[in-house]
Amino acid sequence: MFSLDQFPLPWPADALEPYISARTIGFHYEKHLGGYIKNLNALIAGTEFENMLLIEIIQKTGGKTFNNAAQIYNHDFFFKCLKKDDATPLENKEKIKADIRTAANGVFGSGWAWLTAAGVETTANADTPIAHGRMPALCLDVWEHAYYLDYQNRRNDFIDAFLEHLVNWEFVAGNL
Ligand code: MN
Repeated sequence: MFSLDQFPLPWPADALEPYISARTIGFHYEKHLGGYIKNLNALIAGTEFENMLLIEIIQKTGGKTFNNAAQIYNHDFFFKCLKKDDATPLENKEKIKADIRTAANGVFGSGWAWLTAAGVETTANADTPIAHGRMPALCLDVWEHAYYLDYQNRRNDFIDAFLEHLVNWEFVAGNL
Protein backbone atom coordinates (compact mmCIF):
# COMPACT_ATOMS: atom_id res chain seq x y z
CA MET A 1 0.00 0.00 0.00
CA PHE A 2 1.17 3.49 -0.76
CA SER A 3 0.84 6.96 0.73
CA LEU A 4 1.48 10.48 -0.56
CA ASP A 5 4.19 10.88 2.12
CA GLN A 6 6.33 8.37 0.22
CA PHE A 7 6.46 10.76 -2.74
CA PRO A 8 7.30 14.17 -1.24
CA LEU A 9 7.56 17.24 -3.44
CA PRO A 10 11.24 18.27 -3.74
CA TRP A 11 10.38 21.96 -3.10
CA PRO A 12 7.62 24.18 -1.60
CA ALA A 13 4.48 24.46 -3.75
CA ASP A 14 5.26 28.06 -4.78
CA ALA A 15 8.89 27.34 -5.78
CA LEU A 16 8.16 27.27 -9.51
CA GLU A 17 6.20 30.53 -9.75
CA PRO A 18 5.54 32.35 -12.02
CA TYR A 19 5.96 29.46 -14.47
CA ILE A 20 3.77 27.00 -12.54
CA SER A 21 1.55 28.39 -9.78
CA ALA A 22 1.30 27.01 -6.25
CA ARG A 23 -2.38 26.38 -7.04
CA THR A 24 -1.50 24.14 -9.99
CA ILE A 25 1.11 22.27 -7.94
CA GLY A 26 -1.38 21.87 -5.10
CA PHE A 27 -4.01 20.28 -7.33
CA HIS A 28 -1.47 18.27 -9.32
CA TYR A 29 0.19 16.82 -6.23
CA GLU A 30 -2.63 16.40 -3.74
CA LYS A 31 -5.59 15.72 -6.02
CA HIS A 32 -4.04 14.04 -9.08
CA LEU A 33 -1.08 12.13 -7.62
CA GLY A 34 -3.04 11.65 -4.39
CA GLY A 35 -5.97 10.29 -6.41
CA TYR A 36 -3.81 7.76 -8.27
CA ILE A 37 -2.44 6.54 -4.91
CA LYS A 38 -5.93 6.20 -3.44
CA ASN A 39 -7.17 4.36 -6.55
CA LEU A 40 -4.18 2.00 -6.63
CA ASN A 41 -4.54 1.14 -2.95
CA ALA A 42 -8.20 0.24 -3.51
CA LEU A 43 -7.28 -1.92 -6.52
CA ILE A 44 -4.45 -3.87 -4.85
CA ALA A 45 -5.96 -4.33 -1.36
CA GLY A 46 -6.13 -8.04 -0.60
CA THR A 47 -4.42 -9.04 -3.85
CA GLU A 48 -0.97 -10.47 -4.67
CA PHE A 49 0.12 -6.91 -5.52
CA GLU A 50 -0.56 -5.49 -2.07
CA ASN A 51 3.03 -5.66 -0.82
CA MET A 52 4.88 -5.32 -4.12
CA LEU A 53 7.17 -2.47 -5.10
CA LEU A 54 5.59 0.10 -7.41
CA ILE A 55 7.93 -0.88 -10.25
CA GLU A 56 6.88 -4.55 -9.93
CA ILE A 57 3.20 -3.61 -10.08
CA ILE A 58 3.90 -1.61 -13.25
CA GLN A 59 5.70 -4.57 -14.80
CA LYS A 60 3.11 -7.18 -13.81
CA THR A 61 -0.26 -5.51 -14.37
CA GLY A 62 -2.40 -3.94 -17.07
CA GLY A 63 -5.60 -1.95 -17.22
CA LYS A 64 -6.64 0.21 -14.29
CA THR A 65 -4.00 -1.13 -11.90
CA PHE A 66 -1.22 -0.41 -14.40
CA ASN A 67 -2.63 3.03 -15.19
CA ASN A 68 -2.71 4.14 -11.56
CA ALA A 69 0.67 2.60 -10.67
CA ALA A 70 2.35 4.09 -13.74
CA GLN A 71 0.85 7.51 -13.07
CA ILE A 72 2.30 7.43 -9.54
CA TYR A 73 5.74 6.63 -10.94
CA ASN A 74 5.39 9.21 -13.73
CA HIS A 75 4.33 12.02 -11.41
CA ASP A 76 7.00 11.34 -8.79
CA PHE A 77 9.57 11.38 -11.60
CA PHE A 78 8.08 14.52 -13.18
CA PHE A 79 8.21 16.52 -9.94
CA LYS A 80 11.87 15.53 -9.53
CA CYS A 81 12.51 16.85 -13.06
CA LEU A 82 11.34 20.35 -12.06
CA LYS A 83 13.58 23.06 -10.63
CA LYS A 84 13.41 26.77 -11.40
CA ASP A 85 16.21 28.18 -13.55
CA ASP A 86 18.75 25.44 -12.97
CA ALA A 87 21.79 26.26 -15.13
CA THR A 88 23.64 22.94 -14.83
CA PRO A 89 25.50 22.43 -18.12
CA LEU A 90 24.70 19.35 -20.20
CA GLU A 91 26.08 18.16 -23.49
CA ASN A 92 23.51 18.42 -26.32
CA LYS A 93 21.14 20.46 -24.10
CA GLU A 94 19.84 22.57 -27.00
CA LYS A 95 19.18 19.46 -29.11
CA ILE A 96 17.39 17.79 -26.19
CA LYS A 97 15.23 20.89 -25.71
CA ALA A 98 14.38 21.07 -29.42
CA ASP A 99 13.51 17.37 -29.58
CA ILE A 100 11.38 17.49 -26.40
CA ARG A 101 9.62 20.64 -27.69
CA THR A 102 8.70 18.93 -30.97
CA ALA A 103 7.68 15.69 -29.27
CA ALA A 104 5.59 17.36 -26.54
CA ASN A 105 3.80 19.62 -29.00
CA GLY A 106 2.97 16.53 -31.04
CA VAL A 107 1.16 14.69 -28.25
CA PHE A 108 -2.54 14.45 -29.10
CA GLY A 109 -4.63 14.43 -25.94
CA SER A 110 -3.19 13.24 -22.63
CA GLY A 111 0.37 12.00 -22.46
CA TRP A 112 4.02 12.53 -21.73
CA ALA A 113 7.27 13.48 -23.48
CA TRP A 114 10.40 11.65 -22.32
CA LEU A 115 14.15 11.60 -22.71
CA THR A 116 15.77 8.20 -22.19
CA ALA A 117 19.21 6.90 -23.12
CA ALA A 118 17.56 5.77 -26.37
CA GLY A 119 16.40 9.29 -27.26
CA VAL A 120 13.20 11.34 -27.08
CA GLU A 121 9.82 9.62 -27.16
CA THR A 122 6.21 10.24 -26.20
CA THR A 123 3.72 8.03 -24.38
CA ALA A 124 -0.07 8.22 -24.28
CA ASN A 125 -2.15 8.41 -21.10
CA ALA A 126 -0.30 6.57 -18.29
CA ASP A 127 2.18 4.66 -20.42
CA THR A 128 5.79 4.96 -19.31
CA PRO A 129 9.20 4.01 -20.75
CA ILE A 130 10.02 1.85 -17.74
CA ALA A 131 7.20 -0.48 -18.78
CA HIS A 132 9.21 -1.02 -21.98
CA GLY A 133 12.61 -1.48 -20.35
CA ARG A 134 13.88 2.07 -20.78
CA MET A 135 14.93 4.20 -17.78
CA PRO A 136 13.84 7.82 -18.12
CA ALA A 137 16.18 10.79 -17.68
CA LEU A 138 13.58 13.55 -18.12
CA CYS A 139 9.83 13.78 -18.55
CA LEU A 140 7.18 16.40 -19.20
CA ASP A 141 3.53 15.93 -18.25
CA VAL A 142 1.33 17.37 -20.99
CA TRP A 143 -1.99 16.23 -19.55
CA GLU A 144 -4.27 19.29 -19.35
CA HIS A 145 -4.25 19.23 -15.55
CA ALA A 146 -0.50 19.99 -15.62
CA TYR A 147 -1.00 23.47 -17.08
CA TYR A 148 -4.64 24.47 -17.59
CA LEU A 149 -5.04 26.74 -14.54
CA ASP A 150 -1.97 28.75 -15.58
CA TYR A 151 -1.93 28.51 -19.38
CA GLN A 152 -5.50 27.45 -20.39
CA ASN A 153 -5.29 26.19 -24.00
CA ARG A 154 -1.75 27.53 -24.55
CA ARG A 155 0.01 24.21 -24.06
CA ASN A 156 2.91 25.35 -26.28
CA ASP A 157 3.62 28.23 -23.85
CA PHE A 158 3.72 25.75 -20.96
CA ILE A 159 6.11 23.53 -22.92
CA ASP A 160 8.35 26.54 -23.64
CA ALA A 161 8.30 27.64 -19.98
CA PHE A 162 9.25 24.11 -18.94
CA LEU A 163 12.18 23.93 -21.35
CA GLU A 164 13.49 27.45 -20.67
CA HIS A 165 12.92 27.72 -16.90
CA LEU A 166 11.83 24.52 -15.18
CA VAL A 167 14.10 21.61 -16.12
CA ASN A 168 16.25 20.23 -13.29
CA TRP A 169 19.25 19.69 -15.55
CA GLU A 170 21.35 18.44 -12.64
CA PHE A 171 18.83 15.63 -12.12
CA VAL A 172 18.74 14.90 -15.87
CA ALA A 173 22.54 14.78 -16.07
CA GLY A 174 22.63 12.36 -13.15
CA ASN A 175 20.15 10.07 -14.91
CA LEU A 176 22.08 9.93 -18.20
MN1 MN B 1 -0.20 15.00 -14.19
